[in-house]
Amino acid sequence: MLNDLPNIKHAEVNGKKVLLRVDFNVPFDKNTGIITDETRIKKSIPTIEYLLNNGASVILISHMGRPNGKKDEQFSLVKVIDIIKKYIKQDIIFCEETTGEKAKSMAENLKSSEVLLLENIRFKAEETSKNKEERESLAKELSELGDIYVDDAFGCCHREHASIVELAELLPSYAGFLLHREIEMLDKVLTKPERPFVVVIGGSKVSTKIKLLETFVTKVDTILVGGAMAYTILKARLLEIGSSLIEREFLSNAFQLVDKASYHKCQFVLPEDHIIADEFSENAKIKKTGKEIPAGWMGMDIGPKTADKYEKIIKEAKTVLWNGPMGVFEMSKFDKGTMAVAKAVAKCKGITIAGGGDSYYAAKKAGIEDKITHLSTGGGAMLEYIEGKKLPGIQVLLSGKENE
Ligand code: AMP
Repeated sequence: MLNDLPNIKHAEVNGKKVLLRVDFNVPFDKNTGIITDETRIKKSIPTIEYLLNNGASVILISHMGRPNGKKDEQFSLVKVIDIIKKYIKQDIIFCEETTGEKAKSMAENLKSSEVLLLENIRFKAEETSKNKEERESLAKELSELGDIYVDDAFGCCHREHASIVELAELLPSYAGFLLHREIEMLDKVLTKPERPFVVVIGGSKVSTKIKLLETFVTKVDTILVGGAMAYTILKARLLEIGSSLIEREFLSNAFQLVDKASYHKCQFVLPEDHIIADEFSENAKIKKTGKEIPAGWMGMDIGPKTADKYEKIIKEAKTVLWNGPMGVFEMSKFDKGTMAVAKAVAKCKGITIAGGGDSYYAAKKAGIEDKITHLSTGGGAMLEYIEGKKLPGIQVLLSGKENE
């Protein structure tokens, strides 16, 4: 797969205008507008610099937040200008439109090695429209601004959006370095993982990760489960889980999952103790409990015995893939399990991959984000890729026009 992905190093970019789709959907403080984490921007800098150093001019396309197809100042990309500037050490030209006459004339006047940032692509309703023709009309307008398309927005590749799919259909298209690296790392663990291969999975819902778990039980040696999703599985195994968050419609899937794991000789590990609370709140009364949770209490984090066990298994693994927190880690009373997992992943000497917004922030909170082999910028995209789904943004590049 990786070798088939058109590489920008094969593109003749000198003197060309490159439309670069990046994922600058970074979190910001709602009151001050200040960006609280710039990692996604930083990770696309190598692609921007490569293009500039090779004589291209760069037209950046990104989304931010969910403005629902309308101009909404709180999601303006004006916020990211200073951060890009800081890294590439040159000015950014900003167009407060995404397409139209202004964007056209600014793109036309763009000189080699200059950077033009277009306003949030999701201010245009056509970007995320379900109607392909509408997406195509936006893509057509965008394609008229440049000569070549480069996709570096892995986090959006599972979406059928105009700037991800239809634009790539219109121009010679390539994968940027970040996209390339994401696929390289995921392929590495999917095709020939060194064993033991341990998957750590948490978060709130079984429903969003059931397909992934069903795939993993056939492929990996051990699955360590935490977060609220563990309670649906424990409930399916007839354990008392008090008022913990569960998904009743998934009890039967959860039940079968454990059997499937055992059939495939995959060690499927569930929490043996818990930190429980009398309400879903930072001010809740809390206590430790063993396997079962009494009525009126809810599981908020894995307990210390489980955390120790998970730590040992993770540290000895040769490949680790981690997605989702072990508890309500946003509240410090319930972050110990997730912090223990993060630190164990950091100590593991094998290949370690973590992905999804929450795992990323947990890694950051634990101060270990630099100790993970690969911290994926994609949450949903990463999960879908690992499940074996074909991501529209990748498929379009594979069937691309780079050789024209
Ligand atoms: P997800 O989006 O499915 O990956 O879930 C992430 C969310 O799961 C985080 O916001 C956590 O606070 C939440 N979470 C983890 N463990 C629990 C739990 N035991 N009860 C309720 N929510 C949880």
